[in-house]
Amino acid sequence: MRVSFIGLGAIGYPMAGHLPKRHQTVVWNRTASRAQQHAKEHGSQMAKTLEETADAEIIFTCLPTSAEVAEIVDKLKPKLRRGALWVDCTSGDPTASREIASQLQTLGVAFLDAPVSGGVPGAINGQLTVMVGGDENALEQVRPALECFAAKIVRVGDVGAGHTVKAISNTLMAVNVWASSEGLVTLAQQGVDLSLALDAINASSGRSNATERLLPSPLLKREFPPRFKLALLAKDVKIATSLTRASGISSPVFALISELLNASKATLGTEADYLEIVKAIERWSGINDA
Ligand code: NDP
Repeated sequence: MRVSFIGLGAIGYPMAGHLPKRHQTVVWNRTASRAQQHAKEHGSQMAKTLEETADAEIIFTCLPTSAEVAEIVDKLKPKLRRGALWVDCTSGDPTASREIASQLQTLGVAFLDAPVSGGVPGAINGQLTVMVGGDENALEQVRPALECFAAKIVRVGDVGAGHTVKAISNTLMAVNVWASSEGLVTLAQQGVDLSLALDAINASSGRSNATERLLPSPLLKREFPPRFKLALLAKDVKIATSLTRASGISSPVFALISELLNASKATLGTEADYLEIVKAIERWSGINDA
């Protein structure tokens, strides 16, 4: 198959790196040097113009938000092949995705929202989980391409359902990371050895993905490599809080985590990694985070 991949960011770059092994792959990135590097490293083909990406059976997007996806869709609409499939791996907004899908449908192009989970390491290892919203037949057609970077693919419903599940899933993760960080920063202040504390917690009822996988390295080694921007997590939680509000669900915890992420973004800056919320908690508590 001929596939295009648009958006070679922290996660898009390694995801797209698996495609050339099985499919003819054209890549495009706003900052062209990243696409150039990708072609060199992974054997993809760099598109000289964005329009070139329209000449494909499958077009992937992996951009910050649905707003950037809508912009790209608008630019490519006149050039798309009838029968093509658009797979949006952005963690996007379900309402925006339904609008994009209906515009593409008039051109004979099927749209699937297919956000991913598993982070940069999962993308590098080809072990991502993909939660897909959209037509079952369309999913079967794109499955061989998704399988290049995914270990698990779940169709969760019609268009928009993938983005809905992703927003809720990341909000659950944010709540866990935040609460675990408060707990572990407290333990450190109490003079408890954090590696021993984590050893005990991870064999106890307080354990979670946050305590087992995400927080040990930031807390024990003070390592915060840039992998997933705090601003992107705040965006996911904002999508989830709009969904709870629109559904009339009482959700004070979702509202609070949204406020906390926005406040930590103001403290840490827009480029901060999401695990740096540990530093925000420390700073707000008067602890030197050197
Ligand atoms: P990054 O910020 O690392 O990359 C964003 C990408 O979008 C870059 O390729 C950037 O291009 C491009 N871009 C930004 N604005 C525009 C625009 N106006 N027009 C065209 N291209 C644009 O983000 P990630 O790769 O981390 O995330 C991408 C999506 O995947 C997000 O929705 C995120 O929530 C989701 N996600 C991320 C995960 C992660 O671990 N990083 C995990 C799971 C989901 P340029 O290089 O020019 O800046």
